[in-house]
Amino acid sequence: MENALLDTVYDTKTFLEQAKRLLQITQEHLSNSLSGSNEKVMHWQEPEEVFRFWEDFFNGGSPEDFFSQVFQHTTHTHHPKYIGHQVAAPAPVTALTGLVSALLNNGMAIYEMGMAPSAIERIVIDKICQQIGYDKNSGGFLTSGGSLANLTALLSARKAVVPHDVWNKGYAQPLGIMVCEEAHYCVDRAAKIMGLGEKGIIKIPANQDFSMDVSLLPSYFEKAASTGIKIFAIIGSAPSTATGAYDDLEAIGRFAAEKEIWFHVDGAHGGAAIYSKKYQPRITGIETADSVVIDGHKMLLMPTITTALLFKNQRHAAHTFNQKADYLLDDSREDPWYQSGKMTFECTKTMMCLHWFVLLKVYGEQLFDEYVTRQYDLAHSFAKMLMKDPHFELATLPQSNILCFRWIEKEMSLDALNQVNARIRQQLLADGEFYIVQTTLRGTLYLRTSLMNPFTTADHLQQLLEKIKKTAQHIS
Ligand SMILES: *Cc1c(COP(=O)(O)O)cnc(C)c1O
Repeated sequence: MENALLDTVYDTKTFLEQAKRLLQITQEHLSNSLSGSNEKVMHWQEPEEVFRFWEDFFNGGSPEDFFSQVFQHTTHTHHPKYIGHQVAAPAPVTALTGLVSALLNNGMAIYEMGMAPSAIERIVIDKICQQIGYDKNSGGFLTSGGSLANLTALLSARKAVVPHDVWNKGYAQPLGIMVCEEAHYCVDRAAKIMGLGEKGIIKIPANQDFSMDVSLLPSYFEKAASTGIKIFAIIGSAPSTATGAYDDLEAIGRFAAEKEIWFHVDGAHGGAAIYSKKYQPRITGIETADSVVIDGHKMLLMPTITTALLFKNQRHAAHTFNQKADYLLDDSREDPWYQSGKMTFECTKTMMCLHWFVLLKVYGEQLFDEYVTRQYDLAHSFAKMLMKDPHFELATLPQSNILCFRWIEKEMSLDALNQVNARIRQQLLADGEFYIVQTTLRGTLYLRTSLMNPFTTADHLQQLLEKIKKTAQHIS
């Protein structure tokens, strides 16, 4: 009697029944979402309203209805009219790998608590390194998100480049990094966490197309150096988040080599172009980077959260959190590959490698090639569609599957257009047929789309534009 609740919770027959029911409604949800038929991407509600709904459910709802209610009351990435944030519509099989990871709970903090995932992760990492164009000396690990991976890479860079033992002794002189003003905010945050301060983040202005203006690198470097800042790393975005513009990785790589500083590529979104035969030229030079970040949960069809952090030299993956100063380490691996917990920020982490392994084993790199190429192609078609219509204006030609545009009308002021476009986006959100977002670039408000869903077609996008025009007419 004492353990009645525990016995119930761990009853395997009950689990099987629950799982069968859940699979049934998951399949229904998935097929409704994917077909996009008379289903909305989301049913928008104010935060307080949603809070009251779930409070009522907690107090009076039936647990049997829980999963179906969650499905109904949230945003559906599998819907082809989901074209908002850069989140994957996960390949359904990766929900199953997620289940196995959750159930086994082998956190990989130490080898015997993750024998299978340690080996599986090594295979996955080796495959990604090969695809980048790295040689046998490369390595890395999976970690919990692009933000954490960027921070980890910069910590590793500092240890590799700065002769002073900052890890143990703190800063002896002001340090800095160089990054385009358009980079993801997590780079800024990583630099602040590392104590570099505002002065330690050398922001390089962007070109007209929102990529880094690499012609400014020498002068910005000299200016920082003349104020006593030692720059130890430069970050290239592949691409940056707001507009999807790729920095010139080749030029940044050359500059980094010349100045003997670390070259890091934030490819959280579009590092996935390593898999696309057609779009691989976008990331030429990535193989010269000292470290690269690629998110599985963005352009590689995997669920939140799984990120690869790759190093040209495995030794740098291993040294980040090592207590010893870098010059005490020899070139051999300090810790064997199966001690990945020593290399990662996390102590316990999920078995995120299962997603990568299953997709690569069952479908091969070909799957990612097909997906990335299709989405980038679609953005080009969308751009052509927009350029043909005098009521629309592109922020810049798309270089990935991210595209920013706005509704325009001659003789309307910038302020008025900003207001109309903000209201368009608000009404689309409330309507729920489509999901798109917005961003402000150099004072102009744009509607922002990320073509994430593998079943979004040009036809859906045409419908979106018709809807926007009708909405705009209504507003103005
Ligand atoms: C999304 C994104 C990040 C952050 O990655 P998370 O996995 O969300 O932490 C970093 N950089 C770029 C360029 C991104 O697009």
